[in-house]
Amino acid sequence: MSKLDCLFLHPSTTMRVRQRGSPQVEDRIRNVIMPMGTIAIADLLEREGYSVKIIHTGLERMLDHSFSVDKILEKYDATVVGIDLHWYAHGYDAIQIADISRETTPNAFVVLGGFTASFFAEEILEHSNSVDAVIRGDAEIPILELMRQISTHKLENVPNLLYRDGKSIKQSKNRYIASTQDLNDLCYSNLPLMENWHNYIKLTSENDALQPKLKTQGWVCIGRGCTANCSYCGGGSNAYKIISGRESPIFRSTEKVLETISRFEEMKISCLYIDFDPYPSNRNYYLELFDKIRREKIDIGAQFLLWSLSDSSLLKEFKKTFNPLFSTITLSPESGSEKIRKINRSFFYDNAQFFHWLDHAKEETVPIELYFTSGLSEETYEDFKQTLMFCYKIKEKYPMVINMVCNPIVLEPVSPRFLHPSQWGITLTMPTWRDFYVTYKKFAFGVSVLSRLGYQTKDLPEGEIIELSKIFNENFG
Ligand code: SF4
Repeated sequence: MSKLDCLFLHPSTTMRVRQRGSPQVEDRIRNVIMPMGTIAIADLLEREGYSVKIIHTGLERMLDHSFSVDKILEKYDATVVGIDLHWYAHGYDAIQIADISRETTPNAFVVLGGFTASFFAEEILEHSNSVDAVIRGDAEIPILELMRQISTHKLENVPNLLYRDGKSIKQSKNRYIASTQDLNDLCYSNLPLMENWHNYIKLTSENDALQPKLKTQGWVCIGRGCTANCSYCGGGSNAYKIISGRESPIFRSTEKVLETISRFEEMKISCLYIDFDPYPSNRNYYLELFDKIRREKIDIGAQFLLWSLSDSSLLKEFKKTFNPLFSTITLSPESGSEKIRKINRSFFYDNAQFFHWLDHAKEETVPIELYFTSGLSEETYEDFKQTLMFCYKIKEKYPMVINMVCNPIVLEPVSPRFLHPSQWGITLTMPTWRDFYVTYKKFAFGVSVLSRLGYQTKDLPEGEIIELSKIFNENFG
């Protein structure tokens, strides 16, 4: 038995589904991408002299069906067990890991972190005795301080901590908000802290399954925060203010990001995943970064997500910089209706501007992926028909658009729609932490649920919102 200071256990979403054409059921692992910060936090603790390991429980189950969390907990017998709960879809699985930890290693201190855990911290501690504390907001310095204080039990000294104190719950007084310098001091490329990381980089989408493939992916942390408040998004400007007290976005320096990218190249990662663009009217940061990547002659591809349209120079520079094999630019117009896009998306562009941008991408032959959605506020059947017509036009005129996907919006905690449903013309069907937890528990056991998305709009019931996305994907998938 080895004794570890901190064991990070990453949950995935378990979905029990019936096999096609058979009464047999099987468990599928979903939402397999891990928050980038877990690597950086684990690396920070290791540099400070603590023994640390990350186990991705979903990946381990994919690799070995007999994998069990209790055996891992027994093996490492950690002082602190850290469970990331950033995305609500991991809610049930995260608490299950906490419960197993309490049974198997009752003396381990179980701490949760991430956006979902931060927002629902009080409810989580109220409902789950297996969780000792939740770090709310930025977690780097708080978890380091927790490791220092764990033997003395002076938890009031740990910033951003909501914790149990006997039968009551207490909030520590100090607030920690990560600065640019703090982000620059972190290392996001120490993947070997994770067991089987060679297999993790083969998981390139949330619902991926392990299979032999050439593409490997590395998520690049560029910064934190957003300036916008899209109706459906739980990671917008107000959400950051509520959860971590962050007033405006911060960026890592291009030199530090370059170090990460260079390390990813050495690790044989073929495609970067970059999803951080809070100032679409000024992309100088990326022009500088791309220039540095070229100067260093780093040979790597990139899936680059734009949060709004760009000028043609960004497209040109992107093309010049990245290996073309897996490189794409992704944009989310969400709807073909300008009216609906304007209501729901903060960084608005009209259809003429959008097609002008696609013309540039066509000239530069940059592969484009487009994401759409159903269930937006104020959206009717007629609006969705406009989305379909819009996409027929794209399909006809733009052969470099390699992928168009539509997914029904799911309710994100802390999004404007979650916080003010009536203003956004929706009715919530999952208003509390308990609702998210129970829904995902039912998914894990293959039990039918009353609501999958967490809301219905005043114009469309949930089943029809799901059906619209299905119709889209039958036409364009
Ligand atoms: S969806 Fe909107 S609010 Fe959310 S991160 Fe993107 S731009 Fe910001």
